[in-house]
Amino acid sequence: MVLARHNPQSWFTEYQTDSLNLGFRIDEILLHEKSPFQDVLVVRTETYGRLLALDGAVQTTQGDEFVYHEMITHVPLFMMAAPKKVAVIGGGDGGSIREILKHASVQEAHLVEIDGRVVSAARQFFPEISCALDDPRAQVHLADGIEWVRQARDYDLIIVDSTDPVGPATGLFSPDFYQSIAEALAPGGILVAQSESPYLHQALIKQMANGMRTAFSHVRLYLAAIPTYPSGLWSFLMASQHLPEPHARYLTTKIATRYWTPHIQSAAFVLPRFVEEFMTCDG
Ligand code: SAM
Repeated sequence: MVLARHNPQSWFTEYQTDSLNLGFRIDEILLHEKSPFQDVLVVRTETYGRLLALDGAVQTTQGDEFVYHEMITHVPLFMMAAPKKVAVIGGGDGGSIREILKHASVQEAHLVEIDGRVVSAARQFFPEISCALDDPRAQVHLADGIEWVRQARDYDLIIVDSTDPVGPATGLFSPDFYQSIAEALAPGGILVAQSESPYLHQALIKQMANGMRTAFSHVRLYLAAIPTYPSGLWSFLMASQHLPEPHARYLTTKIATRYWTPHIQSAAFVLPRFVEEFMTCDG
């Protein structure tokens, strides 16, 4: 449906908190329907190109998706010499799989998405994001990640590329789920999960970190600037049984990126003081 430029309906607004909205002027609604799991909306925004929202929350836009997808994948992948087997829980747009498969050592990249409608919408409206889902090394499982991970074994990296902790994603933020992931990882394996905004979701980030500490010896937070996510500053939690260090290959890689650089690999873990303080304070 093509929309008139000054029509008040020609805005998509994400209601981020009770007192904070982010509005995008849009010129077309490309898809709007209810899947069995959530409200699925694809619109064309004037500033960031096509945008996918689930239950009213921005998931990805053509304009800034590269930041999230590069940072949730390359930062942990460059902690390993030759990662072979990787899983993404959620992430139905396919952007994380696209980045993972840039690493030549990867033999299997499993996408475990609960909602097949997200995958089909991504294939139709975001071909540049979902393009690697047809790579022979990619396998798409339409399944609940909580169930799926219980039978998974020997993964070098498991990425939790989830929606916010509501609806089917709630269990993806629980200590039991982190324990299942610890059992699904190979020795030296790493868990990374998107962990929301350090401005708006401090209690959740701490709760996630504490949950991960029940199953892992080391938990670290890193950051990236993502303009279309609430507050614009986003965090990721990395958990492992050893303290991960970048493997030397990160300095000489020829992988094509737009946000990640070897300097960002290290700098992303340097935290502003207010983040360090809330991560270390009790309560
Ligand atoms: N980049 C995103 C963000 O932080 O906003 C996340 C993108 S991705 C589209 C999130 C996906 O997680 C959604 O497609 C949703 O259907 C999926 N999801 C939610 N709960 C799930 C579960 N229990 N198992 C597998 N996938 C799940």
